[in-house]
Amino acid sequence: MAQSVRLFCFRLRCFTFSFLLMCFSVQSAPWHANDALLLKDIRVNPQRVLDSLAQAPSEQSPKSKAIRFYIESRAYSALILHEKARQSALGGLALVSDTNTPLYHYLTLAYAEAMDGVGNAEDALKQAQISLTWALQHGDDDLMDYGLSVNGYLNITLNNFAEALRYFQQGYQRHHNAESMFQQSDFAAMLALVYEYRQEPAHAISYYTEAEKYYRDNDVTLELANTLFGLGKNYILLDEINDGLSLFLESADLALEIQDLQGAAYSYEAIASVLINKAMFEKAGSFLDDALALFTQAENPFMQIKVLGEKATIALAMNSPNKGLDFLAQADALIDGDSFLSQRIAINDIRAQAFVMLNDYQSAYEALAQNRKNRLRWHKEVNSKRLLELQTRFELQQQQTKNALLEEQNLRQQNQINNQQKIKHFTILLIALLLLVTALLFWLFINTKRHQKRLEQLANSDNLTGLLTRRKAMEDAEQQFQLAIRHKTPLASAIIDLDHFKQINDNFGHQTGDKVLQLFGALAQKHFRQTDILGRIGGEEFLFMFPNTSVKEAKEMLHRFSSLLTTMGDTLNNQELNITISVGLVAAEYCDDITQVIAQADGALYHTKRNGRNFIKVAQLSA
Ligand code: GH3
Ligand code: MG
Ligand code: MG
Repeated sequence: MAQSVRLFCFRLRCFTFSFLLMCFSVQSAPWHANDALLLKDIRVNPQRVLDSLAQAPSEQSPKSKAIRFYIESRAYSALILHEKARQSALGGLALVSDTNTPLYHYLTLAYAEAMDGVGNAEDALKQAQISLTWALQHGDDDLMDYGLSVNGYLNITLNNFAEALRYFQQGYQRHHNAESMFQQSDFAAMLALVYEYRQEPAHAISYYTEAEKYYRDNDVTLELANTLFGLGKNYILLDEINDGLSLFLESADLALEIQDLQGAAYSYEAIASVLINKAMFEKAGSFLDDALALFTQAENPFMQIKVLGEKATIALAMNSPNKGLDFLAQADALIDGDSFLSQRIAINDIRAQAFVMLNDYQSAYEALAQNRKNRLRWHKEVNSKRLLELQTRFELQQQQTKNALLEEQNLRQQNQINNQQKIKHFTILLIALLLLVTALLFWLFINTKRHQKRLEQLANSDNLTGLLTRRKAMEDAEQQFQLAIRHKTPLASAIIDLDHFKQINDNFGHQTGDKVLQLFGALAQKHFRQTDILGRIGGEEFLFMFPNTSVKEAKEMLHRFSSLLTTMGDTLNNQELNITISVGLVAAEYCDDITQVIAQADGALYHTKRNGRNFIKVAQLSA
């Protein structure tokens, strides 16, 4: 139950959708459903459409009248009655005042189609292009299809086959549904026509065959007849004479069935041409008679002249030159003005042959002489046309080459600029990177140096006092001693010992003792020169060396230092502290080696300790 309800709903939705679609498509076309049916019927039986229009009651509104003109024009075109088609289209256009409507553009395209038939394709093309653009802009699918087909046909007439292919292929690839006025098969038949003109029968046949199948399945008689005719021509081109002939015959039968008289006539003429080539003159003659009658009825002078020429050719072949001249005279009567120049040439050629057969060489000569003039004119016309075409093509090609060259040049320049830019960026990046690495290395170097210096300082300086360690002090002392000897400069050296230091520790604690030693170091560094050697060589025992300094000068400096030490009590907030030092001083430059320097200083210090402390004793060196 639920299943069937769902199914019903689904169907309802589908129905609604297609109904909406129908409304939409009816809305977009300017005509009613009945007119749409007539338009479709043109492709089946255009004469029937014309008959039913003739019988219908006359329309009242200008729009309805214009639509009727449009349908009429299309039907006439289908029957190759171009002049009538042109007049109908003009009649319709006169009734449409608003050019911004689909109807106006349908009529314009119908007019262009008719103009193509009466030999004015160039002007027609401009209008057809405008209408196609309008259709594109307004998304009118049917109008677009019609526009593509008309533009394609016009380009065939103008020998622009590539352009024609482009339009038809566009139509062929568009999406069509059952409601569409044009189907893919219609465009297949159009594509086939282009290939036929381009003498590519294999391609033409494959597209015609596609169209043939659709037209046969759907009983589209007129289009089927046209397609079979096209197929026949291409089979003949491939030298498949029998197939070609039977296709022409079927096409003619179908055309007659729908009273497309010219359709049949074209087939008969094509059959006759083949038979003439096969020298089957009698049979060819009867087809030509039929064709002539039908072309006459349809008032198609162009084809009448052609058939009469062929009839004359047959007469000559059958040795009846007078009969031939008769046909040619009939053709002459139809030739009107300059528009049939090529036919006039063909007729005169045959006429000259007839005169030769009649031994009338004078007339033959005159006919040929006339033709010489005609040919010159014809060639001039054709040549000037060709020249113009060639010139246009040449200029176009030149422009294209120029453009291509310019484009290439631009591309190359652009590439060069891009490459230069890339190289520039790369170089900048590289330099920046190098600078960064250099800076990093430099920083690393400086840092390492600093670190090294700091480590050295740490290793060479005493923790508590900040003065040199015993090892470093002895090293530097040795060095200074050697320098003093070499340069014969004075080098005062002192060993200093704090007096009764044990008691300071005992009275105020070891910590105070440490603070005294610390302060002693700081004061020494502040008081003496940077170049002086200030080392701690024992617990409260120090080795000081003063380069370039005489013992006398050193003694004065040490006195001042000694009195500086009396301020320690204030600094360390302990008035009971009374720091004094004993100093053993020696002029090192008079010693033999550093050991003797130390020994002499030590000796002088020992002397102070034994003689009351707190004074400086200079060692008396024996010469
Ligand atoms: P003198 O005047 O004869 O030199 O008497 P003194 O007490 O200074 O000499 P002594 O050699 O008898 O004692 C030295 C004292 O120095 C012993 C030791 O405890 C103390 N001392 C050595 N090094 C340090 C130290 O780093 N810190 C402290 N607080 N005391 C130290
Ligand atoms: Mg001491
Ligand atoms: Mg001591």
